[in-house]
Amino acid sequence: MTALTVGVLGGGQLGRMLALAGVPLGLRFRFLDPARDAPAGRLGEHVVEDFHDPQGLRHFARGLDVVTYEFENVPVESARYLAQRAPVYPPVGALQIAQDRLSEKNFFQQLDIPTPAFAPVESRKELDDALARIGLPAVLKTRRFGYDGKGQQVLREPRDAKAAWKSMGGVPLIVEAFVPFSRELSLIGVRARDGATAFYPLVENHHRDGILRMSLAPAPGHTEALQSLAEAHARRLMESLNYVGVLTIEFFEQSGDDEGAGGEGSVLLAAEMAPRVHKSGNWRLEGARASQFENHLPRGAAGWPLGNIEVAGHCAMLNLIGSVPCVEAMLAVPGAHLHLYDKEAQPGRKLGHVTLCAEDEGELHAQLKPLRALLGLG
Ligand code: AMP
Repeated sequence: MTALTVGVLGGGQLGRMLALAGVPLGLRFRFLDPARDAPAGRLGEHVVEDFHDPQGLRHFARGLDVVTYEFENVPVESARYLAQRAPVYPPVGALQIAQDRLSEKNFFQQLDIPTPAFAPVESRKELDDALARIGLPAVLKTRRFGYDGKGQQVLREPRDAKAAWKSMGGVPLIVEAFVPFSRELSLIGVRARDGATAFYPLVENHHRDGILRMSLAPAPGHTEALQSLAEAHARRLMESLNYVGVLTIEFFEQSGDDEGAGGEGSVLLAAEMAPRVHKSGNWRLEGARASQFENHLPRGAAGWPLGNIEVAGHCAMLNLIGSVPCVEAMLAVPGAHLHLYDKEAQPGRKLGHVTLCAEDEGELHAQLKPLRALLGLG
């Protein structure tokens, strides 16, 4: 059997982890990324060209069996060009929708998936009209290229609109109702080429300054009812897109009046989707029998059976942002697995993550304590 060669648009840490999962299955990897020091570049062939460069794309495409992308801001036209030469998974249609917060929210609505109230904004008048309809507080966001809380501002008072328009106006925007959520959850699912699906348990995500710091899996207080609700939404998205590979949906959970998170009256509002492996799924490297990386391409897209998503106990993932604490001290924590992305330290940059898995939540929290202290998470 000749090895399949997988082309990955983007050579970041998610691409690196895809290769770490795919190489043992005999896959070869080629990355396209303009950054010479892209973290995935050391694990496969690295084509150092711009994502738009026609010659670079031609060179990258040669002999590929399947193509994927590890972040969603790659040009749709480049993905389309590649799709004429090899199958691109997840489908280009999913990439196109996920690149624009307005198309994404319209798509959720078409499929009856609840979202925060929203409106497109192209002028100061449209902003004022939308705020009159949606109310305050609200969040003004760029429709494209926003991530980790970048390209957005919270508006609390009517006078905030002027300053926000001044700093953000000029590009297509969307305004959303500010959701007083009880917590943020994500669902990661995978769909294979034959339509088979599998879903990991919902994960609870904790952000600081818009950046994911910690994920807990399964989400504490996880219930079958909440899981089924999230899976029903994901299934509709996957089927309507004829999806292949891993899909992540981020939700805001609003609990019923007298109940805590996960209660029967909980509502899930779809915040966004990512047509790719996701940082909130990194715990699965040790926490599930087959990780999201193994399921995305090797299993999902190559047409092989999906891997077992069964989860080992309770897991946590802590992101290392901006700097890496003492490696010896992190590894001295029982059960800690360290993943470093081989990136130069910079403020706000994701440099690695630590995963922990334990038999029960009590043990997990005991193990988390020293790690949280090392990471300055209190
Ligand atoms: P995003 O870049 O859209 O993923 O947003 C980053 C973070 O901002 C989210 O994880 C939320 O914590 C917060 N956020 C974004 N949109 C809203 C909203 N409509 N209501 C409340 N918080 C939000």
